[in-house]
Amino acid sequence: MAFVCHIHGEAGLAHLCEHIHGAIEAKAPVPSWLSYPLATPLDEYIVLRVCVACATAAGLPVPARMLRDDEAALEQLDTEPSCEACFVARASSP
Ligand SMILES: [Zn+2]
Ligand SMILES: [Zn+2]
Repeated sequence: MAFVCHIHGEAGLAHLCEHIHGAIEAKAPVPSWLSYPLATPLDEYIVLRVCVACATAAGLPVPARMLRDDEAALEQLDTEPSCEACFVARASSP
C-alpha cells in the first residue's frame, strides 16, 4: 500500500526520530540530523533521519552512511513515518 501525503500525494517515506517529527509537527526549527539511506529500500521507505542523540543511543554509525540490511534495525528505533517531501520542505540542509 503506497504512502499518500495530503500535500504531495504519493511520495517517498522517511522515518524520523520523535524529536525531528515533533519539530515538524509543531512547525518548530528542526534539530540537526543524520541521514541514513537504506541499501534496500522497503516499499516507499527510503531514508532514516534521526537526531544525533538518537543515532548515538541506537548505535548507528556516525558520520552517517548508507545502512546495510543487517544494520537497519528499525524495530530498535522509535521512529515516525513521514512524507519525505514534507521533510525536505520543512528542513534546511544539516
Ligand atoms: Zn531524536
Ligand atoms: Zn508531503
